[in-house]
Amino acid sequence: MNRRLSFRGGFHVEEFKNTRKSKIQRMPAPERLSIPTLQHIGAPCLPKVKAGDIVDYGQCIGDVNAGLGCPIHSGVSGKVVSIDEKINVFGAKTKHIVIENDFEDRMSQEITPFTKSLADTNLEEIIDIVRKAGISGMGGATFPTYAKINSAVGKVNTLIINGAECEPYITADHRLLLEHPEKVINGTKILLKALGLRQGFIAVEDNKLDAINKLEDLLAGSELIKVKIMKTKYPQGDERQLIYAITGTELPAGKLPADVGCVVFNAETCAAIFNAFIDGTPLIERVVTVDGDCIKTPKNVMVTIGTSYRELIDFCGGLKKRPYKVITGGPMMGTAIWDIDAPITKGTSALLVFSSNYADLYSDTAACIRCGRCVEGCPMHLMPAYLASFAQNRDFDICAEFDVMSCVECGLCAYNCPARVPIVQNIRTAKAALNEKHRKEAEKKIAEEHKYISEGKKAENGNDKQQ
Ligand code: SF4
Ligand code: SF4
Repeated sequence: MNRRLSFRGGFHVEEFKNTRKSKIQRMPAPERLSIPTLQHIGAPCLPKVKAGDIVDYGQCIGDVNAGLGCPIHSGVSGKVVSIDEKINVFGAKTKHIVIENDFEDRMSQEITPFTKSLADTNLEEIIDIVRKAGISGMGGATFPTYAKINSAVGKVNTLIINGAECEPYITADHRLLLEHPEKVINGTKILLKALGLRQGFIAVEDNKLDAINKLEDLLAGSELIKVKIMKTKYPQGDERQLIYAITGTELPAGKLPADVGCVVFNAETCAAIFNAFIDGTPLIERVVTVDGDCIKTPKNVMVTIGTSYRELIDFCGGLKKRPYKVITGGPMMGTAIWDIDAPITKGTSALLVFSSNYADLYSDTAACIRCGRCVEGCPMHLMPAYLASFAQNRDFDICAEFDVMSCVECGLCAYNCPARVPIVQNIRTAKAALNEKHRKEAEKKIAEEHKYISEGKKAENGNDKQQ
C-alpha cells in the first residue's frame, strides 16, 4: 500500500461516518418536484416551460441565455403547475419550477446516447455533452463543469479527482466509489481526454480502504489513473490541501488551481460526466447522506433533484427526536437551514438533523483563553483568534492585513476552540464587510472615470464651438 499523503496543519476530527456501510437506496420520485432555476455559480436559468406544459423525464426546462451557467432538467414526467419566486435556503430569491409527477416515466426525446467512442471524441463534443447535461460541481462548489474543463485546457498538467470526503458524517462519495467505481474511473478517462493529459489521480482518504482496494483492483496497475491515498485529516478534501498533498505545490492566496497547473473535480461529478457521455442522462439525481441523531434510519439515498428535505427525512423513517438544527452539507462547512420544504439541489451532499444534545453553541461573549489550538490547526496558516477578535471589534482593515480573505471557512478553528468563540461567524462578517467595501470602491472608481470622460467630452465640444 502506498504512502499516505497529507498537508501542513489540519486536524483529525471525529468522523461519525455512521452510514459507511449503508448501500445507496433509490428513493422513488415524489408527487411534486420544485426545481430551482439557480443551482450553480453564475446566472439563473430562464424557464423554457410555463405553467400547464407537459414535460418528460430528463427534459431541459431551463437554461441561461448567455454567460456562466448550466441548464436544469425535469427528473419526472408530468405537468408544470407553477413557476414561483421563493427564498432558497441560502437566503437568495430564486424562481422554482414546480412539476406534478404523472408517474408515467415518459422519457424525453432529448435523452440520446452519444454514439462515438471516446477515442474519436473531441474536446468540443465533450464540453457540449457536459454542458447540455447541466453538470456543476457536486461536492458543493456548484461551479459549471463545462466551464471548468474549458478554462483548464492547455493550462493544467495534473488532474485530481476528489474522493477525500473529509467532512464528518458524509459517506455519499465513499458509497459511490465502492458501488460504482467504474463510473468514476470512466469519468476520469473522459476528463483526461478533454484535457489532453496522460495521467490523472483519484484521491481517497485512508478511512475508505475498501473503496481504495476496489479502485486499485479495477485499475490493475494502470498508468493512466493512479489512486492516491490521503491521510484522514480535516480539511483534506479542500482543493488547496489536495493539490499540496499530491504535488507538493502550495496554491497562493487568491490564485486558482489552474495557476499552479492543477484542476480538481469531485468524484460524483466525474460519475455524472460518465452518465451523460454513455447514455445522455442529464443531472437529475444525486446521492445524499442523511444522518444526525434525530434521523430514525440514517441512509445514503439516490434522490431526484427537486425532492424536498422533508420528503427525504420521511424516506429515512422520519424523526425520532425534536430537531434543533438542520444542516445541508457537512457539519463543518454546511449551512443551517430554516425551511425543510426546500428542495434538494445539484450541490446537496448531505442532510443532517441534530437535537440540542449535538448542536454546538457558540457565544458572542465567549472569552479566548489563548490556548493557540485554532492557530495550530488552521490549514491556511492564519491567526483565527486574532481575526475573530478584530472582526468582533469591527477592525476590518486590520483583519485584511492579517489576510482574512485567505480563510477558506473550513470551520476547524471553531471546532477546536475550547472557549466556544464564534470564530468563523466573526471571520465571515469581516469578509462580507471587506467585500462590500471593495465593491463600493470599485463602483466609485467607475463613476469617477465616467465623470472624467464626460467632462473631457464637454470640454472638447466647448473648444470645437469656440474654434
Ligand atoms: S475557518 Fe478559516 S481561520 Fe478557521 S481554520 Fe479554517 S481557514 Fe483557518
Ligand atoms: S482556540 Fe479559542 S480559546 Fe484557543 S486561542 Fe483560539 S480562539 Fe482562543
